[in-house]
Amino acid sequence: MAIEPFVEIHSLLDELKALAQISEEEPPVVTRVVFSAADLRARAYVQSLCESTWLTVRQDAIGNMLARWHGTEPDLAPVGTGSHIDAIPNAGMYDGTVGVLGGLEAIRSLQRAGFHPRRSIELVIFTSEEPTLFGIGCLGSRMMGNVLTLAAALKLRDKQDHGLDELRSQARFTGALESVALPPGYFHQFVELHIEQGPLLEQEGIDLGLVTHIAAPASLRVTIEGEGGHAGGRLMPGRKDALAAAAELILALESAAKSSGAIDTVATVGVCEVFPGAVNSIPSRVNLETDIRDTDGARRNRVIDALHAACSDVSARRGVTVTTELVNADPPATCDTAILAAMEASAQEAGRSFKRMVSRAYHDSLFMARIAPVAMLFIPCRRGWSHRPDEYASPEWIAAGVDVLARTLAKLAG
Ligand SMILES: [Zn+2]
Repeated sequence: MAIEPFVEIHSLLDELKALAQISEEEPPVVTRVVFSAADLRARAYVQSLCESTWLTVRQDAIGNMLARWHGTEPDLAPVGTGSHIDAIPNAGMYDGTVGVLGGLEAIRSLQRAGFHPRRSIELVIFTSEEPTLFGIGCLGSRMMGNVLTLAAALKLRDKQDHGLDELRSQARFTGALESVALPPGYFHQFVELHIEQGPLLEQEGIDLGLVTHIAAPASLRVTIEGEGGHAGGRLMPGRKDALAAAAELILALESAAKSSGAIDTVATVGVCEVFPGAVNSIPSRVNLETDIRDTDGARRNRVIDALHAACSDVSARRGVTVTTELVNADPPATCDTAILAAMEASAQEAGRSFKRMVSRAYHDSLFMARIAPVAMLFIPCRRGWSHRPDEYASPEWIAAGVDVLARTLAKLAG
């Protein structure tokens, strides 16, 4: 017999609203930067909710919170769920929080149904999914997934030049940072509920997105050094115009992404700084910042290779010096077929429409994928708006997501 979870959507909405009140700015604006007073108050609120649900709560050395509902076979690896509660400045109330408070409500709805999981179910509240403080996203899950080395973590600094170690101690998170990394196999499976942050589900009138792939960005900085000079005095033969060279590289990158053979390949040059930046001066230096994403790591790397080849070619033909620096290249994740099957069966049981889709933004699940099979469950959000105060998901959408998450967790935890 299938479990029939009983979701109390009104108390969940009250909790989402109460959490949204905990902000560094006047509601409805949600600003909750990691380790700020608001972030610490929000954590305390969520912790109290978890404890009143009889979950065992622990916090690791970086502030990731893990709240466990013990299964009848507590030695088995737990099934994980969760997301984040930190918010960028001027954000809304659903990004991340739907996966945290919705995850908690999924657990409670199973408790109300009299369900006893065989495996423990562990709710995770990740530290600093947003890059606001340290310039790097998914700090907590990167460290849990052992993606970010300890040396790299210790180099992180905020804009006032305070180090991670100092800031986490001020927030009273102590203990060895080495202990944050979880061993592969710690989680049996991990599933994250999240708003789509795109418009497709709402446009198509579909209740749920079953995420099959999480795309991941690679970012490269490209510096082109040419030769400056007077825009009138210097004739065209023999010029080494850094911006003209950069223009070729931008188009080469665009063409490499367009000809990858897959719609999921995207490449963007979002920053182009020109020196000295005067109308009557030949550009001597250009800095480009590129973002290259795909759901397939090898295909994305071929675009990066094409960019490198274009750099060598342009450098040789134009006599400019081109250097590249790989800022980051997180591997994309392919979601687990067993979790997808459980989500699909759960959506059918609940009478909810669904489609399989790609997450083009990245999430904590991308890094949990390094140590566990993962999948994500998307609910619609109005017009795809996110990271703004008018971000909105309807009670019906949230209730459907929590219901199907609960059914999924019941299947996975057995
Ligand atoms: Zn999020």
